[in-house]
Amino acid sequence: FVTLYAEGIHYGGRFRGTMLVLRDVTVETEVDRMKSEFVSTVSHELRTPLASIFGYTELMLAKELTPNRQQRYLETIHAETERLTGLVNDFLDVQRMESSQQHYHFKELDVVAMIREIAEFQVGSSQTHTVLLETDDAAVEMIQADEQKMRQLFGNLINNAVKYSPDGGEITIGIEPADDLLRIRIQDEGIGIPRHALPELFSKFYRVDNSDSRKIGGTGLGLAICQEIVRAHEGMIHVDSTEGAGSSFTVELPIIQENPTALSPTLEIT
Ligand code: ADP
Repeated sequence: FVTLYAEGIHYGGRFRGTMLVLRDVTVETEVDRMKSEFVSTVSHELRTPLASIFGYTELMLAKELTPNRQQRYLETIHAETERLTGLVNDFLDVQRMESSQQHYHFKELDVVAMIREIAEFQVGSSQTHTVLLETDDAAVEMIQADEQKMRQLFGNLINNAVKYSPDGGEITIGIEPADDLLRIRIQDEGIGIPRHALPELFSKFYRVDNSDSRKIGGTGLGLAICQEIVRAHEGMIHVDSTEGAGSSFTVELPIIQENPTALSPTLEIT
């Protein structure tokens, strides 16, 4: 955006000309918009679980409840507390990312087994979506990784696939080696992402500005955290999407090569 205004220049009581002033405010307005949206998003995201915890504890304190009902209320309080903890952890992660204080504990990890475990949990627990896992059953691929961060990365991507798809939608998790990389694809048949939003998608606090995303809720931090985790593992993350048809997020991670020097011929000098 450019603001433009014209000003007449008078000198000695006479009109001498016109000055045109152009000011590029594209960056300022975009940052301002994201900031104020973030403040309202955060207050909403924090207020909703807090209100629910407050409401249920008040009910429990005020009334004699059947054990059944008590159990149900406690489950809700537990789930909402978990949600709040997740939010606070995301804020802390972003803050650590910015001050380069994020610590990684790398070790050799069979990432196929880990993703299979996450996917199988989703297959077993999702009552609203069908989760399919496409992988070679015998595959074992080792990477240097921080296991907790890897769980956070794929947890975020699978959660988003569920969150931005209507009930009954299908989510496919595909794992395939490609040369010295492991390619992991998380594909959904959800609301999709408008083309103009794709370049901004991994920026922190960015949320697609439409009524569907607003209704669904979130902080716009998950994908920024995902990108940071992938970067720390020397990998790549990218997205393909068609608005109204679905999205596909692909993560590529370097595989540990099995003793590559053993394959090279040895040269004997006699
Ligand atoms: P959040 O979900 O908390 O808003 P994210 O950083 O995880 O934040 O995602 C940023 C934005 O990208 C979301 O607000 C949403 O608009 C869009 N998005 C992410 N994943 C998907 C998906 N699988 N399908 C459609 N839109 C998505």
